[in-house]
Amino acid sequence: LASLLKDPGLLVERAYIGGAWVEGADGRFDVTNPARGDVIAQVADVSRAQVAEAISAAEAAQPGWAAMTGKERAGVMRKWYDLMIENAEDLALILTAEMGKPLAEARGEIAYGASYIEFFGEEAKRIYGETIPGHLRNTRLMVLKQPIGVVGAITPWNFPNAMIARKVAPALAAGCSFLSRPAAETPLSALAMAVLAERAGVPAGVFNVLPSTSASEVGKEFCENPAVRKLTFTGSTEVGRILLRQAADQVMKCSMELGGNAPFIVFDDADLDAAVEGAMMCKFRNNGQTCVCANRIYVQDGVYDAFAAKLAEAVRALKVGDGLEDGTEAGPLISDKAVEKVREHLADAEAKGGSVVVGGNPHDLGGTFWEPTLVTGVTQEMKVAREETFGPLAPLFRFKDEDEVIAMANDTIFGLASYFYAKDLSRVYKVAEALEYGIVGVNTGIISTELGPFGGIKQSGMGREGSHLGIEDYLEMKYVCLSV
Ligand code: ADP
Repeated sequence: LASLLKDPGLLVERAYIGGAWVEGADGRFDVTNPARGDVIAQVADVSRAQVAEAISAAEAAQPGWAAMTGKERAGVMRKWYDLMIENAEDLALILTAEMGKPLAEARGEIAYGASYIEFFGEEAKRIYGETIPGHLRNTRLMVLKQPIGVVGAITPWNFPNAMIARKVAPALAAGCSFLSRPAAETPLSALAMAVLAERAGVPAGVFNVLPSTSASEVGKEFCENPAVRKLTFTGSTEVGRILLRQAADQVMKCSMELGGNAPFIVFDDADLDAAVEGAMMCKFRNNGQTCVCANRIYVQDGVYDAFAAKLAEAVRALKVGDGLEDGTEAGPLISDKAVEKVREHLADAEAKGGSVVVGGNPHDLGGTFWEPTLVTGVTQEMKVAREETFGPLAPLFRFKDEDEVIAMANDTIFGLASYFYAKDLSRVYKVAEALEYGIVGVNTGIISTELGPFGGIKQSGMGREGSHLGIEDYLEMKYVCLSV
């Protein structure tokens, strides 16, 4: 991998604690390329004691960082952003090598992740409080916004750069210091971000990266160490619940980006070609491994067959392969466990009457490659209706009218992203209001941007990432009552 990089210095295997590159007290662990199965790096495995050391370093560094002006923090973040853009190709190569997504998508992720650093750097200058007219003639009321303090972050493997960028950017802009525990599958992208942060002048201890194979130990230290004031997590609802319970003892502030079960609804007045294009991007991006991927595709009776035929053609045309090869549109799945989930959902759908129209088998490439798959005749009784498949399986449900599909779409514990295609204006308004989701994409399959507040309701979590609203998750509000 190092030989592919313009700057091999971006490929590091040591942890980054308090501004120092250190070995892990628990040895090293292997990072493999899921497309080829070969070990590409052996990364420091930090112990719980090292996590505690990193927390102390972050605690020591935070007041100095917070004392800088917003413009000064913005300057450092701007440099960090520029370095990410300058090194985008190397960062994308590292990302694809450890995670498997096509290089084109990895490039997109680097630009996307960097956009948060840029955006929130700018926001550092705009952390406005408020003044409120007093309740007595001689009182003046003020609301100050202050950084929460030390932030612990735990992130998954599906966006090794962006999931961290979306958290560290608002945290640093607010004046917090930050501890990142990347997924053990994908620590290299996080470490490369730290190399660039160091070069950009992010002070020692403000950003720390703690690769570890024992996520639960890191999670416990984050929750039990009183110096940590905020936990931010992206991952499954299951692990989110565990962390929320652990965080309760300290009444720790939490942001949780948890699982989704996104409905993608095609009404009979939709532009079908646009809907197919949107469904392809929404379902098959990252090979179905995003928490906002369409999980249930509902198509209205009158256009069901036409939509299914067009979608089948598009699914059949997807080019599966090694993400590092030119033209690849779908890479491997991250692990055998991920393959099992696809297999299980497919078998369940077939057993209950679904029909496989495209794919349905392990891919000839072997390993964790799976054929892009389309299943029709899917119903609410099947597993795919309840759980996130997180793989290249597109299930088509049939519905009759608006009320029916709204009820079906909302019949889940999750509430992250939803999508629908329609032209009728009153329908667009009604459905957008009725969907119980934190995000609604209307006539688009792509909703992610640093300019919008990304986040879920119900058991998909709490808090928002992105937009001027996103920085609030890293700020405390202080009410000052002044008698003059
Ligand atoms: P995914 O299916 O995306 O891996 P998980 O919720 O299992 O979703 O994992 C998300 C992140 O949380 C990963 O980095 C994982 O290592 C970490 N994790 C898993 N279990 C725990 C735990 N008990 N405490 C803290 N972090 C955990």
